[in-house]
Amino acid sequence: MIRLLLFLFLFFSSFSYSISEELNLFTSRHYESDLKLFEKFSKKTGIKINVITGKSKVLEKRILEEGKKSKADILLVADAGALYSAQKKNLFTKHNSSYLNSLIPKPFRNEYWVGITKRARILFYNPSITKKSEIENISYENLSDDKWKNSIAIRQANNIYNQSLVASLIEYHGEEIVEKWLKKFVKNFVRPPQGNDRAQILLVASGEAKLAVANTYYYALMLSGMKGKEQQKAAMNVKPIFPNQKGRGAHINISGAGILNFSQNKKNALKFIKFLLQAESQANISNNSFEFPILENIRTNDLIKKISGFKGDKKIDVVVYGKRQAQAFKLMKKAGWN
Ligand code: FE
Repeated sequence: MIRLLLFLFLFFSSFSYSISEELNLFTSRHYESDLKLFEKFSKKTGIKINVITGKSKVLEKRILEEGKKSKADILLVADAGALYSAQKKNLFTKHNSSYLNSLIPKPFRNEYWVGITKRARILFYNPSITKKSEIENISYENLSDDKWKNSIAIRQANNIYNQSLVASLIEYHGEEIVEKWLKKFVKNFVRPPQGNDRAQILLVASGEAKLAVANTYYYALMLSGMKGKEQQKAAMNVKPIFPNQKGRGAHINISGAGILNFSQNKKNALKFIKFLLQAESQANISNNSFEFPILENIRTNDLIKKISGFKGDKKIDVVVYGKRQAQAFKLMKKAGWN
């Protein structure tokens, strides 16, 4: 009897031990610091995180193609439009977490996904060329003014951040007004759109453009020196200016995560998402990517402080960006935005 009990004990203890718990995280983020953070989670919980990185469209396609056989547990991507795209293809399961609902402000979550970080799409100017008083009350809406002819640097229409920005304008003003606005706005481009957000900031630094449209974290990344001395110096010649401060506030977007429909590890996946929302994780993510924490009152570094202290749009539900992106893209192309 004792032998049998001992056998059963050994059998079950080795059994439970041999199931090493794992989570497969599909992410469009590619930060060394993320991996270190995930290791902390593994140490705490014994759950190993396997990271599969790729562009959100590629990850989405792979999950779709693998269907029920997909081993992906969590999808973490930038831009509410990318989250909505995955949601529309039924990739996510509802998280059903009242904890997440109470933690994350309403415009930055829905029943399928939650925001993990925030970013603002704002303007950058060169104070040696443009006086602050000239642009103090600037809004996205008045970027179509003739005053800015051949002045604005922005990336291409196929860029999801731009589509989200235009989507928000459609939500506020309707298609007709935005169509007219786009026609004038495109005429104010200093060159045919090309390059990433940093390339636009560089153009303002060199004085070739007066205004750049770019996400906040690119500027902080340049200032950090992580992109080299030259970009650091260039960024120091440029200042951020936050549009629509007298109105709804600057355009805010998110990076976010959702639990995938065919995940076999939904409980642990939820545990992992909750971990990303702990204060320490939030600070860790922000301080390395220079995005804003999705939660308030998180201690961040000085570079993030340089792009903080403005009014962000908290009115619009970010899911709208996804819903209106196709419409936005069509209008942008029609207006000649390449
Ligand atoms: Fe980006």
